[in-house]
Amino acid sequence: MFSLKTLQTKKQWSNWAETAQGSFEQFFTPHNTEELQSLVETAYKNGKRIRVIGASHSFSPIALPEEICISLHEMRGLDSVDAASGEATFWGGTYLYEIGPILKEHGLALENMGDIQEQTIAGAVSTGTHGTGITLGSISNQVASWEWIDGTGTYHKHRRLNEEDPLANSLQVSLGLLGILVKVTLKVLPLYSLKVTTFRATIEEGLANWKSDLSHFRHLEWFWFPGTNLIQVKQMELIPPEPQKKWEKTVSSISKTVIDNQAYYVLSEICRRNPKRTQWVSEFSAKNIPNRTEKGYSYELFATPRKVKFYETEIAIPIESFPECLDELTSGLKDNPFFVHFPIEIRFVKGESGYLNPNHQQDSAFLAFHMYKGMPYKPYFEWVWNVMEKYNGRPHWGKMNQLTEEKVQELYPKWGSFLEERERYDSNRMYVNKYFRGLIK
Ligand SMILES: Cc1cc2nc3c(=O)[nH]c(=O)nc-3n(C[C@H](O)[C@H](O)[C@H](O)COP(=O)(O)OP(=O)(O)OC[C@H]3O[C@@H](n4cnc5c(N)ncnc54)[C@H](O)[C@@H]3O)c2cc1C
Repeated sequence: MFSLKTLQTKKQWSNWAETAQGSFEQFFTPHNTEELQSLVETAYKNGKRIRVIGASHSFSPIALPEEICISLHEMRGLDSVDAASGEATFWGGTYLYEIGPILKEHGLALENMGDIQEQTIAGAVSTGTHGTGITLGSISNQVASWEWIDGTGTYHKHRRLNEEDPLANSLQVSLGLLGILVKVTLKVLPLYSLKVTTFRATIEEGLANWKSDLSHFRHLEWFWFPGTNLIQVKQMELIPPEPQKKWEKTVSSISKTVIDNQAYYVLSEICRRNPKRTQWVSEFSAKNIPNRTEKGYSYELFATPRKVKFYETEIAIPIESFPECLDELTSGLKDNPFFVHFPIEIRFVKGESGYLNPNHQQDSAFLAFHMYKGMPYKPYFEWVWNVMEKYNGRPHWGKMNQLTEEKVQELYPKWGSFLEERERYDSNRMYVNKYFRGLIK
């Protein structure tokens, strides 16, 4: 579990879900660019490998440090803001939960966010972290320029030129392989609020309204309860700025902490101890989907606390394949053969130019599959990966996946162009860890 103290004292690292663990030799939390640069230069001279960690929220071992582990925890916050041009520059170590309130003070907001806000901005940008909204890209797509330190200790700044810009398209989702992101400049929007509506529907009803909902709502998300044909539909609309009302915040917080987390923990434990109860829990959760409407600043509503631990894999498929893929998944999960009660999260994201974005050049449906921590996830995820392969599914880099060098080459037409940029900035392979040594030969 991510703790600076453990990293410092025990020199042991683990990610949030404890699906990746490792020990390393040295841990540093530099306070400024000069300090960071000098660390990289020394490591370069001594032939040591570096991994920068964000909040360690990736499920895959992409952040796993081996020799030198660096955290930008002390390099956080707003560097500069220009409300007129709609750009704000943040230090790489800034946590997403810090960004909303800072931008609000300047009458600004992020275009979109995912469903938690514990990650660092550099980690989120490095992995293509996304929310939902078919007219919107990932958080990486909101970056106008990147500042980073390469594998020799040299500082670079690059401003995106156009959609064909190879360096920008490699930096868009760089997985930490081009160097350490020190700052990112984000395109931001005038402050806005969201009206969020959630309700229960059947898959058939969802599909009947799917296309019109996609075009009507800025954000559309489904949570589908395996072994049932019931989904929770979440629709979000942009409204003029208004804070969340105090009492609504309290009600929402109790509901999210007590029902979504504490009660769900109890239900999850029932499933872990007695997997045969899984189908009942899935049905029970689906039948208790609340009808709810909430309003508040976007950053107050995008994210939810996630206290119940789980394993996750998430795969993007071309949006046209979504109904057919859903149909195949529905029949495969009819009798809940994998004893899974966590809902399948379905989001929709616009295609973007980043070479390693799972939604590279195609509007995509992202389907995320979860299994409660401590329950067998392998047979479920392996089945999922087989099904999703038929639809050319590209896994999220920050989630569990079965990517091999051959698969990456097959799925990412611009993998070779990415590797050329990577070679230019880290020919010594200082930033390549064990996970990537399996992918980059
Ligand atoms: C409960 C939960 C919910 C999640 N929800 C979503 C979601 O809604 N949408 C979504 O898309 N993803 C989601 N994720 C995945 C998560 O957003 C990504 O894995 C993200 O990268 C985590 O950010 P982090 O700061 O923890 O980065 P880490 O996991 O620590 O690192 C990720 C990668 O970024 C690199 N990195 C970190 N900092 C730097 C830096 N300064 N310079 C260069 N490289 C760096 C690391 O080396 C590593 O390769 C979720 C994860 C969890 C655990």
